[in-house]
Amino acid sequence: MKKKGLISTCIILAVALTLAIITGISFSKKRNFVEDIVIGSNVTSQFKLDEYNEKLKGTVGDVDVYVLKGEEEGGSILILGGTHANEPAGHMAAIVMLEQFQVSKGTVYIIPNICQSGLTHNDPLEGTPQYLHFTTKNGDVRTFHFGSRASNPIDQWPDPDTYLHTSGDWTSSKIKEGVNTTQTLSGSEVRNQNRCYPGIQDGTVTERVSYAVTNMINQLKIDLIVDLHESSPEYAVNNAIVAHEDALSLAADVKLELDSVDLSIRVEPSPAKLRGLTHRELGDYTDAYALLCEVGNPSQGRFRGYTDEALAITGEDPCYQAAYKINGGTLLYVDYSSGNFPIALRVARHVATVAQMVLSMNFEVDDPAREVIIDNFPDIDTIGEFYEEMVEADDLGLWLN
Ligand SMILES: [Zn+2]
Repeated sequence: MKKKGLISTCIILAVALTLAIITGISFSKKRNFVEDIVIGSNVTSQFKLDEYNEKLKGTVGDVDVYVLKGEEEGGSILILGGTHANEPAGHMAAIVMLEQFQVSKGTVYIIPNICQSGLTHNDPLEGTPQYLHFTTKNGDVRTFHFGSRASNPIDQWPDPDTYLHTSGDWTSSKIKEGVNTTQTLSGSEVRNQNRCYPGIQDGTVTERVSYAVTNMINQLKIDLIVDLHESSPEYAVNNAIVAHEDALSLAADVKLELDSVDLSIRVEPSPAKLRGLTHRELGDYTDAYALLCEVGNPSQGRFRGYTDEALAITGEDPCYQAAYKINGGTLLYVDYSSGNFPIALRVARHVATVAQMVLSMNFEVDDPAREVIIDNFPDIDTIGEFYEEMVEADDLGLWLN
């Protein structure tokens, strides 16, 4: 009996060790995978985010900032992708803009992987893919991360029971006396990049990244910041721009212009009491127009069925198709009449919205010295044509170099 017990123990240990090695290799590959961002001649320079927080040096959060500077001096905008790494259209839209925008006036700063830590792992038990693949016009297959909503526990661990968000050492004349800028959140939110603004210089890696972004906007006097997201189709803030109160009129102008080319988008005001988010804190602690974009993503929602790379790319899900048939589609906040919501459409919405934000900013500011001009998106008609073409083609790879 004893011998039998020893044999079965050895077998169990051998199986456990084999599984640990297989998963360990998979985790290690994902952790160290570097996406190939293709730098075209439109990118005039790049620098590391640690220029705005030296405490980021040597950490996973010390990501590249890509600079698209026009020949003529002007205003500036900052585009953040990958805040939530399980929302791939936000990450991919930033990469498309980085590879496609031709800036002739002013400066466009792009950080496609602002939460690099979140890109290096997946959410446990969610069954999401690790990577997405797209084939370019030249036939090259390019691979990108599909990550987690939160930073990797390898980079900051353990989570507290309760996360107490504070604004650190930041002060702002925009915040009225008596307004509470602290907030308690569930412990895991300490790894949510979009709950850690305005950031803490020497805090967790997630807080350090947020600090660098806030500091960069202030130091470079950036005029507009937009943070690109996706959201579950059943989430009410969907296919929407969330705007800080100082940016509401600009967002309304974007909405009206996009309506004219049949791109329907809603405007939601940033709640003053919901702390830690880009559209709240970057509006309060910098002079930039602070905006966030959401687009519906069936591969993220709770109703979804089997989850794989195909679902993340096509957005075609039988469970959402069934949900759309209930109560005339009112369970969902996206038009799911086509039975899908592909990533080409989701990215097209983001790119078109950002391009129009630039036009609306120029209109709102009404000062040539602070203008930004993107040559390939000069007016709403061009933006509408781009949107239609990208949706029609339904092949994101065609917009990647
Ligand atoms: Zn998000």
